[in-house]
Amino acid sequence: MFDLLIKNARVADGLGNPLVTADLAVRDGRVAAIGRDLGRASETVNADGRVLAPGVIDVHTHYDAQLTWDSTASPSPALGVTTVVIGNCGFGIAPATPATRDTLLKNLAEVEAMSLDALRAGVDWQFDGFAEYLAFLERRGVGPNVASFCSHSALRTVVMGDAGSERAATADELQRMLALFDQAMAAGAIGLGSSTFENHNGSGGIPVPSRLADDDEFRAFAGVLAKHGRGMIQATCGDRTGIAFLEELAAICERPMIYCPLLDYPTRPERAPGIARACAEARGRGRAVYTQASCQPLNMDFTLLNAYPMITIEPWPTRGDKGHHARTFADPTFRAAFKDNVGAPKGGRIFNGTWHLVEVSLSPTQPELETRSIAEIARERGQDPVDVFLDIGLADDLATIFTAKLLNVDETRVGQLLADDGNLVSLSDAGAHLTLFCDAGYAMYFLGRWVRQLGRFTLPHAIRKLTSDVADVYGILDRGRLTPGAWADMILFDPERIGISKPRRIADLPAGATRLVRSAPGLDGVWVNGRSVFDGADYTRETPGQVLRAFSATAPRLAMPTARAA
Ligand SMILES: [Zn+2]
Repeated sequence: MFDLLIKNARVADGLGNPLVTADLAVRDGRVAAIGRDLGRASETVNADGRVLAPGVIDVHTHYDAQLTWDSTASPSPALGVTTVVIGNCGFGIAPATPATRDTLLKNLAEVEAMSLDALRAGVDWQFDGFAEYLAFLERRGVGPNVASFCSHSALRTVVMGDAGSERAATADELQRMLALFDQAMAAGAIGLGSSTFENHNGSGGIPVPSRLADDDEFRAFAGVLAKHGRGMIQATCGDRTGIAFLEELAAICERPMIYCPLLDYPTRPERAPGIARACAEARGRGRAVYTQASCQPLNMDFTLLNAYPMITIEPWPTRGDKGHHARTFADPTFRAAFKDNVGAPKGGRIFNGTWHLVEVSLSPTQPELETRSIAEIARERGQDPVDVFLDIGLADDLATIFTAKLLNVDETRVGQLLADDGNLVSLSDAGAHLTLFCDAGYAMYFLGRWVRQLGRFTLPHAIRKLTSDVADVYGILDRGRLTPGAWADMILFDPERIGISKPRRIADLPAGATRLVRSAPGLDGVWVNGRSVFDGADYTRETPGQVLRAFSATAPRLAMPTARAA
């Protein structure tokens, strides 16, 4: 007798092999058998020829805070995700002490555009250390499986306080950080999450702490991984951290390094392929360096008061109240300096003067401008786009909502990046940037857009990229595949309908804060460890997820497995 039997499915094994029409049986959370006439089960689901595939493994999320109040990790499971990796970019919330909690939340609120009120009201601080944090999540229950990086910025904050954002660590401070990281690895961290990205500023415009780490600090963390013989480093990088340095870290610990984010920059089309090539060359030399690539265009809504795309362009104001901002935007000296800088592509910047890709989405006083681009309005008015942009905002008392189509817009170039299997399909940032966008459904977009509409990937290949490819690089054991003995993390979908809806705004966060969410038409069921977490319409509120603590000590294959797909 099985616990669950899914009949008449087209089963994708997640390894890239052709789909097989079969039944799949689950016992004790794992795939027990795949075939015909398997016998009876407590619960039977008729798949009616729909596709049954491994659940999506989302290796770039920021659910660290949300999981303390929302065990479902909404909306990811409703978008096909059965395992989330948290602690990315070094923005976790453990370790923490009562004295550093608010600093962590303020930085998180700023850098990942989350509501500080929601975080303060929502985070349930039943932990200090990293091990206690994992134990708390386990006790509280999780819908999807959860693996967590130990967060570099949290380590710096807990050891150095505010100085963590101001300077390099002393030898003594570094030793204390390394000891905490060593404990976290022993408790089941998947590695170290970090950021050296110039855009990552915390509360008050100060850099996030990990940006102040010098190269020796990174080498020392890699040394801890070498001692454990497990784990990896995820780093979100701007221009400071190149692939050569990640390769050096990989050589120290013989563990994988993950470079984020790999995105196509409209003004620097050679940048992303160059990074991907450098990673492939590193792998050719035996160093496991991979990137995370996005399969979606990156659109961002913003106002002049909270203009994430602009904040790294000097002299854009990063602090001060609304009055200060308005006076700055009206000042001809500011405008002249900003015009000089905005068109000169630089560093980790995400906006470089592509005004034809910035639209007015909502203007309280000039609705006739909505859906039009700044470049188009500037041409019509015979003015500089910077003046037009700022004047529109000032006329609306800074309430205009602009939408920037920032990155990853050119599907020819993005398709080339995605076709390189050393670039992991990822970068949802799920759980973060909640007011700006919702890319948590990247896998549904990949299946709808890149497989069905563009025909750029076959279904088995696409599923493999979303599941076993990432599981194997991350050392996540027995997941990302539907083979006998693997955990029964599964999604059931109609390949003719699968896709992603437009975002809608809901107010379900603590303290009444709002966020954008999407849904996945064509996704009819999601199971974690053999138990339903989403039935195609709603969450079941079950918490069958596991807090993952044991990861493979085997280094991932270095040549990515194109040959593995039949
Ligand atoms: Zn991130």
